[in-house]
Amino acid sequence: MSEKTMLEVRDLTMHFMLNKSKNLKVHAVDGISFAIPRGKTLGLVGESGCGKSTCARTIIRIYDPTDGKIFLDGQDITRLSQKELKPLRKKMQMIFQDPYASLNARMVVRDIIAEPLLAHGIIHSKKEAGEYVYPMLERVGLTREHADRYAHEFSGGQRQRIGIARALILQPELVICDEPISALDVSIQAQVVNLLKDYQEEKGISYLFIAHDLSMVRYVSDQVGVMYLGQMAELCEAEEIYRKPLHPYTQGLLGSIPIPNPKLAREKVTSGIQGDIPSPVNPPEGCRFCPRCPYAKPVCSRETPRLKEVSPGHQVACHLY
Ligand code: SF4
Repeated sequence: MSEKTMLEVRDLTMHFMLNKSKNLKVHAVDGISFAIPRGKTLGLVGESGCGKSTCARTIIRIYDPTDGKIFLDGQDITRLSQKELKPLRKKMQMIFQDPYASLNARMVVRDIIAEPLLAHGIIHSKKEAGEYVYPMLERVGLTREHADRYAHEFSGGQRQRIGIARALILQPELVICDEPISALDVSIQAQVVNLLKDYQEEKGISYLFIAHDLSMVRYVSDQVGVMYLGQMAELCEAEEIYRKPLHPYTQGLLGSIPIPNPKLAREKVTSGIQGDIPSPVNPPEGCRFCPRCPYAKPVCSRETPRLKEVSPGHQVACHLY
């Protein structure tokens, strides 16, 4: 592992047992590997139910991984207890999709943002919070006058700024952004992405940025990973994935990006993905994308394609390569 790697996951697996006697389990994440260098962003993309949010929650150790390894800044955190993890939580924070659900409705903004400072002993009473909270509110595009209001008094975009302020107040080195812009209006999405990018340039932090389509991660990612049904289908530099998508699933996802030009949209409409994502309880044998893949051949339903490098830095899991 490079000295400059902020987060590395190796063969990360997260299964949820449904029925032990029948060995029935949800294969939410099945052997995912990637690394995020310090100061860089990995965009993790896939349809709902592909396991990307479970992957995020496993990395932050909300869940105990079934298998695999998680290294944070070189330290193996896979099996650390919650007590052992506590000091490391300052380094690794999370921003959630639904800012309203993740903010305590009975607390004013100052207290919401100050909560992690109190929890980590950086301040010892709420009276000390202003010194930290006011500059952070301004940093995320709000004002100190907002500090005494409740979350329900804000728009969706402003609530997400509060969620970001709470995540950044501890000056983390890695932020896991779990669909932070999916619930926001398109006009607000760019503002939130720019805020995160500016902060990254200023502080050199790393992001794992999760989204359900490739258009959302385009301007924020250095690398992009495409997940399908708990596995990594393709992983490469961000520009490469838009210029030369190799996996049929990635090609389908790119075909389903909304295109503002109606003529181009009509030409592209057939390249979207047919059918629904299968159940992760009983994933298809061989390549999991096989039932939906227009290029499937007999080997695809028999053998699981391994993620392999097909050109420098470009990995794909598909029997076509
Ligand atoms: Fe399609 Fe086969 Fe490639 Fe899977 S391995 S994506 S089924 S061509």
